Amino acid sequence: QNICKPEGVISDTYSDFDFAESFRHKVAAPLDKLIRTKFFRTLKVDLYRPCHFWRTEGSCFQRDCIVTPLDDDDVPASWQMQTVDHTNFGPFLGSFPRQRPEHTDKDFAVVNDETFGDGIWVDLIENPERFTGYAGAGANAVWMSIYQHNCFGVPPYLQDTAGGWGSQLVNVDGKSMPFVQPPRRRRELVSFLESLSEEERGVTMPADVPLEYRMFYRIVSGLHASISTHICSDYFNATADRWEPNLSCFISRIGAFPDRLQNIYFNFLLLTRAIQRMEPYLLSYDYSTGIPKDDKAVKRLMPKMLRAVKRAGFVFDDSELFLGSSGAAMKGEFKDNFRNISRIMDCTGCEKCRLWGKTQTLGIATALKALFSYPDRAFRGSFTSLDFKRNEIVALITTYFQFSYSIKSIEMFRGMYQDFVTDW
Ligand code: FAD
Repeated sequence: QNICKPEGVISDTYSDFDFAESFRHKVAAPLDKLIRTKFFRTLKVDLYRPCHFWRTEGSCFQRDCIVTPLDDDDVPASWQMQTVDHTNFGPFLGSFPRQRPEHTDKDFAVVNDETFGDGIWVDLIENPERFTGYAGAGANAVWMSIYQHNCFGVPPYLQDTAGGWGSQLVNVDGKSMPFVQPPRRRRELVSFLESLSEEERGVTMPADVPLEYRMFYRIVSGLHASISTHICSDYFNATADRWEPNLSCFISRIGAFPDRLQNIYFNFLLLTRAIQRMEPYLLSYDYSTGIPKDDKAVKRLMPKMLRAVKRAGFVFDDSELFLGSSGAAMKGEFKDNFRNISRIMDCTGCEKCRLWGKTQTLGIATALKALFSYPDRAFRGSFTSLDFKRNEIVALITTYFQFSYSIKSIEMFRGMYQDFVTDW
């Protein structure tokens, strides 16, 4: 069996793997071009907010961790600092010191409106998510604080069994395989695969976890798996001094864990559903940048992408979630925790990782907001009740691309794995 070839229905969805892969190909044709246009590649991100949760130790200053900011001349003037009345928020109008809200009640993340002063403008295409070398205790602390303190439905092997803060600083399963060089690679790979229990591989899921909590874990694990997939498909081979896909990296972090692999597809379907719902709004959105070539391209590509997304049909049922007497409380808890995850991104000690961590949590949060903060009718008619900032729209479409690219990479690794097994 090819461990990079998942089969059957993607659980908690109405799609199987083959269908998701085939419609992804159709979406990718316009999407891959769309994200290269000026509107979608330009984003303002507040990369230098302090970490509010623990004392971070140093930052990664290696070349590949650094983000190159855009010059002001490269950012359409209309998006740059506008005069915003910062006092005009909330019920205490004027009676509090000038303070901007981090989020509204509808938001699932800290939003950081681009019209405020904080943050730098970046070109996402010039700063791709890929291997940076950021790893060790700092990176582990971020992931573990997310799983152990801000997540629901986490399988036991990821829970805080040591019961203390310090347990975040160790690799909980201790089984990350070193990236060994070819002569030892096969033996290492086989013994690594054999060492995993069924629970670790996600073959047995914890029973009786409510759907909403399960979804929360799957979103986070899928994001983590997608980031890892990008690291492994764009990996720096220091010996050969070149960027290339690294199969053992992929297998040891994602391929050997069917649940992680599946959660990438799960996120792709969740985002697909949100974009389907937002279709009329996304069609009428003002994407102008003042650059005729780019503006023309978005006018052509956006409807094309939305048509492909619509044709995917019913892939995810958001109407089953947050119902009943506990629904509203659960939604509140879900929002609080996801917002917290977006804040934890400030603790990531590598600029480029922080850029992508923040952008993708905002992208997923935008999808959740579209699905769970507004009724369907809000996306028809005049859209007056909707409140989506430009950066949320950019983050949503960019994150959709990132998951689409992960699925494309899985297909590539599948071929590499097949060759590897054939040579065995
Ligand atoms: P980690 O990926 O750090 O995982 C820690 C533990 O979590 C694992 O031991 C395992 O038990 C569990 N785990 C792993 N994956 C999953 C999953 N999908 N679902 C559930 N549990 C899981 N590095 C880069 O090179 N480039 C980047 O762009 C980058 N971006 C990052 C963004 C953020 C927000 C963070 C926190 C880190 C980022 N990193 C990046 C670092 C990278 O994610 C890893 O932490 C690092 O490569 C070390 O990997 P690891 O094998 O020790 O396990």
